Amino acid sequence: MDLFEWQAKELFGKYGVPVTRQVVVSTPAEARAAAEQLGGPVMVKAQVKVGGRGKAGGVKFAPTPDDAEKHAQAILGMQIKGLTVNTVLISEAADIGEEYYFSFLLDRANRSYLAMCSAEGGMEIEQLAVEKPEALARVPIDPVAGVDEAKALEIAEKGALPEAIRSQAVDVIVKLWDVFTGEEATLVEVNPLVQTPDGVVLALDGKVTLDDNADFRHTEVHDAYRDNSATDPIEVEAKAKGLNYVKLDGAVGIIGNGAGLVMSTLDVVAYAGERFGGVRPANFLDIGGGASAEVMANGLEIVLSDPAVRSVFVNVFGGITECDAVANGIVSALQLLESRGDPLSRPLVVRLDGNNAEEGRRILTEAGHPLVQQVDTMDGAAQRAAELAGA
Ligand code: GDP
Ligand code: MN
Repeated sequence: MDLFEWQAKELFGKYGVPVTRQVVVSTPAEARAAAEQLGGPVMVKAQVKVGGRGKAGGVKFAPTPDDAEKHAQAILGMQIKGLTVNTVLISEAADIGEEYYFSFLLDRANRSYLAMCSAEGGMEIEQLAVEKPEALARVPIDPVAGVDEAKALEIAEKGALPEAIRSQAVDVIVKLWDVFTGEEATLVEVNPLVQTPDGVVLALDGKVTLDDNADFRHTEVHDAYRDNSATDPIEVEAKAKGLNYVKLDGAVGIIGNGAGLVMSTLDVVAYAGERFGGVRPANFLDIGGGASAEVMANGLEIVLSDPAVRSVFVNVFGGITECDAVANGIVSALQLLESRGDPLSRPLVVRLDGNNAEEGRRILTEAGHPLVQQVDTMDGAAQRAAELAGA
């Protein structure tokens, strides 16, 4: 999960990284009030999860509360790189002496962490890496050893941060490492890290990516910072139900067990759909191994809540979970949906194979639901589902 700047800097503050005081607001009147509260000149900063906001006109200096209100008026609702600005950050404006660049990131290629540091800040890092690669220090970090003061000093020296602020820089780098590891981030970036004219080091921007795979260890922070305004509402609902669902834009709802099987189901349905006017899968949904009736019912409900879905393909290969259990799950799920007042309204094509497939098929046949059809092969079932969605 990528964080907004205000969230990143709030976390920085918790770990003792020096930041300016800030208030996040969503109206020009609130911007004025925040500026009055902070007292003195402020920055008005668009809160969207992309870089280059400054260049796009999304970062403005406001000497007075009047200016803060005016700038907020202009920036709220602005589009930056395709994203709408819904909130602005009002932060105490710092005087800038020099701008530096600093980041910790997960270096997947080298299976390690990496610190990047440069005395040439302010510029976009991509541009710096291309135009002045020699000015950007890249220091590998041993994940076990981590970053102590000695390592932080090495990074600061290699990045050519000025001597006068070295000890402050070392302190900030160690604390940013605490943020990185403490919050299980895959990116912590500060651009610019600045030195004020009177020699104080401050983080003026923050970009943090938290590792979604670790969210169960950080539910409080993740829940507080999750932003659903840009996420598809069906995906939000699915996540709340603990389902592994990704919305796509086709018409065949897909439910399967196992990520690999579901991925190949998407391919097979897309391929079959070419014969029916370019019908495509409507979603990815992996209901995992032990697909209980409840999980199946929740899965069906999520998939069917997409109005674009015209047929559903349930593709199950019985491995650890046996097909008769899945078939019973489907039958109970259909009853459950009916009892919720939301009975199955679109055709369901089921393919069961693997352990106890025969028994599973018998259970479904016996249940005799009018909208449920069985096809024994994956290709055949994909074709049938595509045909029903194309009709
Ligand atoms: P970005 O363009 O999305 O990376 O947004 P930043 O937060 O980095 O802001 C862009 C630029 O605005 C920075 O590089 C600074 O030059 C300037 N800026 C940001 N905060 C302040 C501040 O507190 N005081 C001053 N004087 N300039 C700032
Ligand atoms: Mn920046």
